[in-house]
Amino acid sequence: MKKVLLHACCGPCAEYPLQELMKQDLEITVYFFNPNIHPVEEWTRRLEQLKKLTDKYGLKLIVDGGSDPETWLDWERNGKLDRCRMCYETRLGQAAAIAAREGMDSFLSTLQVSPYQDFELITKIGQELANKYNIEYMPVDFRPGYRTGQNMAREDGLYRQKYCGCNISLENSKFREKIFRDLEGLKAQQ
Ligand code: SF4
Repeated sequence: MKKVLLHACCGPCAEYPLQELMKQDLEITVYFFNPNIHPVEEWTRRLEQLKKLTDKYGLKLIVDGGSDPETWLDWERNGKLDRCRMCYETRLGQAAAIAAREGMDSFLSTLQVSPYQDFELITKIGQELANKYNIEYMPVDFRPGYRTGQNMAREDGLYRQKYCGCNISLENSKFREKIFRDLEGLKAQQ
C-alpha cells in the first residue's frame, strides 16, 4: 500500500481531499506544519479543527512547529518579494522532507483544493521538491470539489476561517474587524 503524507493547512480544506484519497488504496498520514498562521490563537484553532477530522476518520496526525509569523512579518525586509511563493516553498518543503525521512512514497497538500491559491505554482514547487527528495508529488487538482468540501465542513460544525493565514492576509481581509473581535474572545477564554 502506498504511503502518502497529506500536508493540511486546516480542517475545512482537508475535507474534500481526504474523501477523494480515502477512496484509494493508500496509507494516509496528515501533516500540520503552517508557521505562516498568525496569531497563535488562530494557529491553535485551525489545528483543533483538523484534529476533529483526523479523529473522525482515524487517521494519524503529525503536528510540526507552531505559529512562527516573523518570516512573514519580515518578508519584504528579507528580500522575499513573492510572499506566497515563499509560503508554499516553506510548507511544502518541510512536508517533502518529512515524507522522505519517514520513508513515504508520496506527498501532496490541501492547498491544492483552494481556488484562492496558485495551483500551477504549487504544482511546480511540488514537482521540484519531489525531484530533490526522490519521492513522488501527487499533483491532484481538487479545486472542483472546493464547495463540496466547505459544505462538508459546515455539516461537521468546523470553524471556517475568513483569511488565508499570514498577518498580511488578515489585515487585507474584508472581515478584518470581525476576525479581530473573535481572536480577542479566544484570548479572553485562555
Ligand atoms: S496569503 Fe496565504 S499563501 Fe500567501 S503568504 Fe499569506 S498565508 Fe501564505
